[in-house]
Amino acid sequence: MSSSRAAAAIRTAARRPRPTRRRKPDPIRTWVRRLDRTRPGLVRDTLDLLAGLHGHPVWQRRFDPTSELILTILTQNSADVNAEKAFEALRLRYPSDLPSEAHLPGGGWGGIGLSEAPPPDWAAVAGAPLDELVDVIRPGGLAPQKAPRIQATLRRIHAERGDYSLEFLGTMAPLDARDWLTSIDGIGRKTASVLQLFSFDHPLMPVDRHVERVSKRIGLIPPKASADDAHELFLALLEPADIHEAHVNLIRHGRLVCHALRPACDGCPIRPRCRHVDPKAP
Ligand code: SF4
Repeated sequence: MSSSRAAAAIRTAARRPRPTRRRKPDPIRTWVRRLDRTRPGLVRDTLDLLAGLHGHPVWQRRFDPTSELILTILTQNSADVNAEKAFEALRLRYPSDLPSEAHLPGGGWGGIGLSEAPPPDWAAVAGAPLDELVDVIRPGGLAPQKAPRIQATLRRIHAERGDYSLEFLGTMAPLDARDWLTSIDGIGRKTASVLQLFSFDHPLMPVDRHVERVSKRIGLIPPKASADDAHELFLALLEPADIHEAHVNLIRHGRLVCHALRPACDGCPIRPRCRHVDPKAP
C-alpha cells in the first residue's frame, strides 16, 4: 500500500465510531432498583414494623475502640457470653493502670455485659507467649485461631501508630477506616463495621448471622448474597441515619422472634410482607 493510501486508511479508521463497550451491570444497584420497583416501600415498612416491636435504640459508645475490636474478634464464631469470659480473663492476666472502662452492651449484644475495669495491658497481650495467650482466652472458644489474630492485630496497630489507640479511625471517612481495618489479616467487613458503628457511629452495617437470616427471609437481600455483598447491599438500601437502628432491631428480631429453626411467624408484624411466609408477598 502506498504511503498516501495508508494515511487515508488511518484517517478513515479514526473517523469510524468506536464500538461502545457495555459496562457490566452493578449487581448491588440492580438489586436495589429491582426491590424498589417490585416491592415498593419494603425497607421503610420493615424498619417501622421492627421499631413498633423492638423500639428505637439510642446510639451510645459502648467501649474504647481497641477493647471493642479485641472483644469483637473474640466473638467471631463464638457466643457473646463466652467472648465476655475471655475478655475478663485478659483483664485479669494482663492488668493495666489505664482508666476503668464500662462496657455498655445495649441492644443487639447477646451477653450480660462486662464489669467496669481497666482494659488489658495491650503491650503485654501483644508480647505474651502464644501458648499462654491461647490458655488465657480458651473460655471464649477457638483460642488457637484467635490468639495469633489478636497479637497480629495489636502488633500491626502499634507498628503503624506507635501505640494501641484506634481513636484516629474516628477522624477518617468511614469507608477509608474500614479499608484500613480490613487490610489486617483476620478482620473482615463485619468486625470492622461493628467497631466503627459502636465506637464512632460510622454508618456501616455489620451483617451477623441474625441480620443475614432475617433479611434474607423477608427478601431485603437476595437469598444467595455473600456476606461481603450483604454489607454493601445494606449500605445501598439504608439511609445512613437508619443503620444503627436497623442493625440492632434485626438482631433483636432474629434472637426473639425469627429464630433459626422455628420462626414465630404467627405473631410477627412483618408477616404480610415476608417472602419466607409467602413467596409472592408484596
Ligand atoms: S414472618 Fe416469620 S420468617 Fe418472616 S420475619 Fe417474621 S418471623 Fe421471620
